[in-house]
Amino acid sequence: MPKSGGTVKTPEYKVFALKYAGPFTSPVAKVLLDTDWDKTIDRYYYIWAIQGGGTTVVVDCGVRPVWAAQKNLKGYVSPEAVLARIGISAATVEHLILTHIHQDHAGGLELFPKATIYVQRREFEFWIADPIAKRNPFAKVSDPVAIAQLENLRGSDRLTLIDGDQQVLPGIEVLLTPGHTPALQSVAVQTAKGLAILTSDCAHVHRSFEIDSQRYSPAAGTRG
Ligand SMILES: [Zn+2]
Repeated sequence: MPKSGGTVKTPEYKVFALKYAGPFTSPVAKVLLDTDWDKTIDRYYYIWAIQGGGTTVVVDCGVRPVWAAQKNLKGYVSPEAVLARIGISAATVEHLILTHIHQDHAGGLELFPKATIYVQRREFEFWIADPIAKRNPFAKVSDPVAIAQLENLRGSDRLTLIDGDQQVLPGIEVLLTPGHTPALQSVAVQTAKGLAILTSDCAHVHRSFEIDSQRYSPAAGTRG
């Protein structure tokens, strides 16, 4: 896609990280493998908004207000309200990318009644159709109401099932990055500062990426 001079110009997007719940305090070892059992860490729940070229794309939809109330979710502000703070109406958002179908990322589906949903086919089929997903630990991290809402979209033009890496809009591409779930997807976005990649739960803390690159990069010369 030409940056300029061509007939189609790729928009340069802005990316907003929007906190909607937390802090949640847990042992460091829960987010950084077997490390610092005696220390704690605070984490928050986020969604993201991407804006540019006259378009808004929301990445993940948080949890629905009723679920948050039932669980007494700490520091909860409806994703609808956090989007409104930057002038976005959830009710009219046209594009919603789900990185994966854990409750804290896909539970707020009902807040986006107009959006086309983009999710990996393998992720969708696991949570909707695989009986294993109905058992713990999977059941514990999913929202059956939101999953039923998602299942109801099967076959409709509001659901786009994706196989692997794919452009969603010019300058916005989803990347298959499984591990945390069967088919978590990250989102690569062209911005004025270069390519931004929203990695969702590929790692819970940035330190994981630093450790990984130190330990496994070709320059490190060692593995393990
Ligand atoms: Zn997750």
